[in-house]
Amino acid sequence: MSGHAGIGTGARHPTGRHADRSLETAPRGRQAVFVGHDVYRRHAYGTMHPLAIPRVEAVVDLCNALGWFAEGDYRTSPCATEAELAWFHDAAYIAALRDATESGAVDLATRRRYGIGSMENPLFPGVFERASTSVGGSIRAAELALDGLVAFHPAGGTHHGRRARASGFCYFNDPVFAILRLLQAGLTRVAYVDLDAHHGDGVQDAFSDDPRVRTLSIHEAGRWPHTGCASDTGEGRACNLPVPAGCNDDELRLLIDDVILPLVSSFAPEAVVLTCGGDALCDDPLTKMALTNVALWDAIERIVPLAPHAVVLGGGGYNPWTLARYWTGLWGRLSGRRIPDALPVEGREILERLQCDLIDDEDMRPQWLTTLADSPTAAAVRPELRALRDEVLGNIDPDRWRAFASAPVVTAVPGTTAVGAAPVEATAALEEVSR
Ligand SMILES: [Zn+2]
Repeated sequence: MSGHAGIGTGARHPTGRHADRSLETAPRGRQAVFVGHDVYRRHAYGTMHPLAIPRVEAVVDLCNALGWFAEGDYRTSPCATEAELAWFHDAAYIAALRDATESGAVDLATRRRYGIGSMENPLFPGVFERASTSVGGSIRAAELALDGLVAFHPAGGTHHGRRARASGFCYFNDPVFAILRLLQAGLTRVAYVDLDAHHGDGVQDAFSDDPRVRTLSIHEAGRWPHTGCASDTGEGRACNLPVPAGCNDDELRLLIDDVILPLVSSFAPEAVVLTCGGDALCDDPLTKMALTNVALWDAIERIVPLAPHAVVLGGGGYNPWTLARYWTGLWGRLSGRRIPDALPVEGREILERLQCDLIDDEDMRPQWLTTLADSPTAAAVRPELRALRDEVLGNIDPDRWRAFASAPVVTAVPGTTAVGAAPVEATAALEEVSR
């Protein structure tokens, strides 16, 4: 598995501006690339919204403070064109969001029909450009993944967006575009793994009738959007793991080991696309999960090597301190850097400047300002987690799960090189855990 130092074992390298890259520790030896844009530095979502906090910009600043961008590591995201947006979204909906952004107003009928201009999905200056840039970034990330890089696009992960409706703080659905771009290049097997605390409903539904895509989601049970129950197998193409509140590191590891890794492997994906929302972390104000960032890094680092092409997206996350530490460390892990024991002064200052109305001062943890990696936690695996695992595996038909389009469905995009099929990996593990 991973040879990364600095997680649980203590960092052996001091932090500093030097790029202490150790490529031999990057997943499968692939180089990673970070896709970002300065549009995320602009204030968004108005006021009194959980996303009106610093997010991607804090990650970029922290990575800079750590000296974690070597030349070529950071790529500026393009903005998706309206023609690209129409790969998935309804033309009238695209026009409605564009017109509302330009006019700064939305009428009642548009609000009701498209869900924009609500408390949940507010209209704010630049929303169309921002959402389009997120889509453009995920398309670019898919292209970089096709080039053999592990593409990290933390501004992506708007997994609730619907074809003709904004939903759950998401105007467009950028993970759908990453997957579509991979399919357009000729891939026939794409696995989507969603580790956000909420069910990846928009992505599952977008590919519900596409035999080339499998969607897997671990999310907190009983939470909005209240979909993704254990019995929802998406007609054989989806796997849903609704975990009880308080899901801890050992429980996540159990589900990764026994369900996610065997199922993804048995599908022999040519590409994996991950949504890594930070709301799955302990101390997120909107959820009740109890995961450390180290457990999530470990999980992601084990999923990425399952396919020759990998796109890693962000997602939710409403505690700016835990979120910035999670995604900064994720970039560090994906790009083969060593996680430091303590942050340099410049990094601490970035975290000290963050603000969030949803976190009370007395709930602040000192380590949020001084470290990247959360301290290990010890908690038992609860019986209901094992029962969930058994139920979900019992619902999966291994033959249907593995089956995929026999002939490539090539919807070529100009300038794209078709990508060859990945070697089929051993599938015995699935039968093993299905029993
Ligand atoms: Zn979420």
